[in-house]
Amino acid sequence: MEQRARKRGSGSKAITGAKGLIETGLVPAEHSETIQVVEASFSVRLTPHIIDQLSGARNDDPVFVQYIPDGRELSFKADDMEDPIGDAVYEKAKGVTHRYPDRVLLKPTHTCMVYCRFCFRREKVGHPEEALNRGAMDDALSYIRKTESIWEVILSGGDPLVLSDRRLQALMEALGTIDHVAVIRLHTRAPLADPKRITADLVEALRKSGKAVHFVIHVNHANELTPDVLGGLAKLVNNGVPLFSQTVLLKGVNDDADTLADLFRKLVANRVKPYYLHQLDKARGVGHFHVSIRRGQQIMRALRGRVSGLCQPAYVLDIPGGHGKVPIGPTYLSENDDGSFTVTDYCGQPHHYEEIAADQD
Ligand SMILES: *Cc1c(COP(=O)(O)O)cnc(C)c1O
Ligand code: SF4
Repeated sequence: MEQRARKRGSGSKAITGAKGLIETGLVPAEHSETIQVVEASFSVRLTPHIIDQLSGARNDDPVFVQYIPDGRELSFKADDMEDPIGDAVYEKAKGVTHRYPDRVLLKPTHTCMVYCRFCFRREKVGHPEEALNRGAMDDALSYIRKTESIWEVILSGGDPLVLSDRRLQALMEALGTIDHVAVIRLHTRAPLADPKRITADLVEALRKSGKAVHFVIHVNHANELTPDVLGGLAKLVNNGVPLFSQTVLLKGVNDDADTLADLFRKLVANRVKPYYLHQLDKARGVGHFHVSIRRGQQIMRALRGRVSGLCQPAYVLDIPGGHGKVPIGPTYLSENDDGSFTVTDYCGQPHHYEEIAADQD
């Protein structure tokens, strides 16, 4: 790993922790104390690719604010939660979260290549000691093997691409032996954080399950889609890995329709289907990124009809308490007292709609 890191990019290495960040010169010296206090609660890490991208960026740059710690992370609100989506209840084995019958989250590691300042798992990520060791991984796999309702395994974390190709390959081979698992999905930020991680060897390792392998990449702004990043994504699609994206609606990053239209169009033009636009989860110290649901719905309304349907993600909220993700609108249909409907078109005009008359039912 160390050797590979040294060979990367501009000769720089990934930096971990506040001190490393201060040495990059990306933040003014007077902020160094604040950053060290933030780091005591929430991990800090940047890859050479992101360091390069941020050099010379202003402190309100939409990529900069996603990665550089901010004193506002220390102002917790009363209802901020340590487990904002209530995952803990569904932990069926270490690293296995089974909330929905047909799909399960498998978290082999709690580390990431970068730590996003708004992360909903910020209390959990950045602890290498939480990674599944061989015994724990065997237990996780036995749970999946004995639970026949599991159709899809979602590798998450942390970032599953922190694992070496050798470990990923072993995991793929193991999942490949479980008949009822049809699909393996990887939720990852690696193609954005470290495009060099997307290699022919990785693609080869992913093939070993013999199952359909899908990627959901986490991306929040079109500026993250640099030529290197797009090269990595092309390598995946060209090798038969379908790509989807998830985006968190973030104040100061992407909270307007034009910014999101640029992002979703650039994704689709590069063969990535926008999947989810997430309402920000109530993790501790992320309040300064909050965008209201009303505003989120306005943005979604502005995109509908004006931007290709391929570019429309579902706007979703993960209901606190572990009740799952649901689309949160806007809605275009309302039922009238007489059983007919009023449907609103993308320009905001209402239309009366009656269903085809059914036989008595
Ligand atoms: C988000 C999530 C999933 C995946 O949900 P999809 O709607 O299929 O993307 C599965 N399990 C858990 C616990 C989740 O939080
Ligand atoms: S990559 Fe994902 S899990 Fe890791 S810090 Fe960012 S949002 Fe959190």
